[in-house]
Amino acid sequence: MNKCPMTTAAGTPIADNQNSQTAGPRGPVLMQDYQLMEKMAHFNRERVPERVVHAKGAGAYGTFTITGDISRYTRAKLFAKVGKQCEMFGRFSSVAGEMGSADTARDPRGFALKFYTEEGNWDMVGNNTPVFFVRDALKFSDFIHSQKRDPATGLRDNTMQWDFWSLSPESLHQVTTLFSDRGIPATLRNMNGYSSHTYSLWNDLGERYWVKWHFKTMQGIKTLTNDEAAKIAGVDLDFHRRDLHAAIERGEFPKWKVQIQIMPELDAETYRIHPFDLTKVWPHKDYPLIEVGIMELNRNPQNYFAEVEQAAFEPGNMPPGMGASPDKVLQARLLSYPDAHRYRIGVNYAALDVNKPRCPVHTYHRDGQTRFDGNSGGAVNYEPNSVGGPVEDVRIKEPPLKISGDADHYDHRDGNEDYSQAGDLFRLMSEDQKMQLVGNLVGAMKEVPHAIQVRQTIHFYKADHDYGSRVATGLGISIDEIS
Ligand code: NDP
Repeated sequence: MNKCPMTTAAGTPIADNQNSQTAGPRGPVLMQDYQLMEKMAHFNRERVPERVVHAKGAGAYGTFTITGDISRYTRAKLFAKVGKQCEMFGRFSSVAGEMGSADTARDPRGFALKFYTEEGNWDMVGNNTPVFFVRDALKFSDFIHSQKRDPATGLRDNTMQWDFWSLSPESLHQVTTLFSDRGIPATLRNMNGYSSHTYSLWNDLGERYWVKWHFKTMQGIKTLTNDEAAKIAGVDLDFHRRDLHAAIERGEFPKWKVQIQIMPELDAETYRIHPFDLTKVWPHKDYPLIEVGIMELNRNPQNYFAEVEQAAFEPGNMPPGMGASPDKVLQARLLSYPDAHRYRIGVNYAALDVNKPRCPVHTYHRDGQTRFDGNSGGAVNYEPNSVGGPVEDVRIKEPPLKISGDADHYDHRDGNEDYSQAGDLFRLMSEDQKMQLVGNLVGAMKEVPHAIQVRQTIHFYKADHDYGSRVATGLGISIDEIS
């Protein structure tokens, strides 16, 4: 076989890749050994900072096919007619663990999708849970600190976690989800995805609808118990990543049904549940699921770093006809995601192959670190201009959103209750699922100081007396202490 010559990064051929250049066979290494210097220097810079959350992930390309007509809700061309398809990329991740952590840890899973539509990228940066632990982004970094490592010991610490959760009752719904059987998916193919946030759709008539997105696994929900997960982690830290890659290589392409719940704009003012509260779902009986399409993952990346590690999703990527909502956490994520990418992989991250739209891009952004494309050549770089540069299109202006009220720091707990939906979730579980939930909770809380155990168990009891009583019994807390 004719092998191509090995070169330096500048393309000059290399004569020896086995022996560094030394003064005599036993002498010291020479500084003029450029290739040795280049190799070591590049190696030192191989890692970009890992994501502070969602560090460990697995990704694949696929297709999204429209099977249900939602064109009355949105002018986005992707949804113009049944049968339309677009290429997509998905990245699934655990949240709290670092890059080398075990895939089978109990943790929510990120469910990040990028749809390369003809009108630019649509990114859905969801999770495998329909709700979240906090409803105001001001509490996000506090929450994540409580889940990460203790500053003194460098260890994950259940006391930190339960201290935060027990003082943040809005987390109860998500805590119940996390410690249920669904808290450890059997594989990434066997879990649902949810937008969790409320987003919006708007049509050519200027009508806005609030929307929640659901991605239901067509492989069926399958989960792991703590014991099963621990055994797998003992032999394969990369179990989920390996499974997804292997399934796609075998031609077993995982699929998800894509569905939405739709709320007319004005319903938001009177609906009994705060529609922009990230800790709440919209019950299906109020807003039933509507069919949209099928998403299939069918192509593995060629290079993990280039395509999965450098994949940059941002909730603000939405073609005309799709929009955000006043959900406070979503509003903050609109800023924090691109901000993280600029810090982690550089200001030109959007031009990387995995992130780049499949439609033409015409911006007036120029320069910046590692500008690796043509930097728009000699094209005009200011606007307005009289040389025919790209211009705005008023036809795709999002309808105005009515806002009212005084600017203030409003207490997000005022008039909000945190118990009924957590209770609904407990009540829909089978007896086996309830036993798993309680066992998982008791296992995680047993070393936590008594006062925190009691404070948290009161929340479980308020959600459902049976739920709280079972946890109390498991922890040896008397019912009098919590009732
Ligand atoms: P429904 O009975 O109409 O919906 C129940 C939903 O819960 C289904 O989507 C189902 O998803 C999911 N589900 C079923 N079993 C479990 C489980 N053991 N753990 C987690 N999810 C489960 O009732 P509501 O719409 O009134 O919701 C009731 C509760 O269900 C909510 O409080 C919420 O905790 C949970 N839920 C609700 C969702 C929603 O969007 N309304 C979405 C997911 C959960 P599947 O069909 O995949 O089994």
